[in-house]
Amino acid sequence: MATIFTKIIKGEIPCYKIAEDENYFAFLDINPVQKGHTLVVPKIEDDYIFHLDDQTLAGLMLFSKKVAKAIEKAVPCKRISMAVVGLEVPHTHVHLIPISQESDLNFAKKQQLTPEEMAKIAESIRANF
Ligand code: AMP
Repeated sequence: MATIFTKIIKGEIPCYKIAEDENYFAFLDINPVQKGHTLVVPKIEDDYIFHLDDQTLAGLMLFSKKVAKAIEKAVPCKRISMAVVGLEVPHTHVHLIPISQESDLNFAKKQQLTPEEMAKIAESIRANF
């Protein structure tokens, strides 16, 4: 069965899309740790990042770098952190989270953003991509 992220990539489930190319797709995390929290996923389904072939893994990092640069321009922060967790959704994904201090990266504490706020930040990141 297709993962929820494959359904998002195919447009079967809505998302706040940031960018895509032939092999990768980026969209806002629906329960953001910080405003602008973005997920980057390879279009191929594999549930563990270190099972990806080298080319797909390298491509994921390069696409994530482009997305991170767009987030940096759209969201005030010191830097974009990158994390891989993968305990909830069995489809490899990278978390890109704007932070200004270590305590900003707390997966146990999620932000409550309205749909309007999510749409606005997605639009702003897209505009900088
Ligand atoms: P993990 O697999 O532990 O890295 O966590 C999965 C992440 O995916 C969590 O941060 C969720 O908030 C996020 N997530 C789950 N479903 C969706 C969705 N439909 N749209 C956007 N983000 C999602």
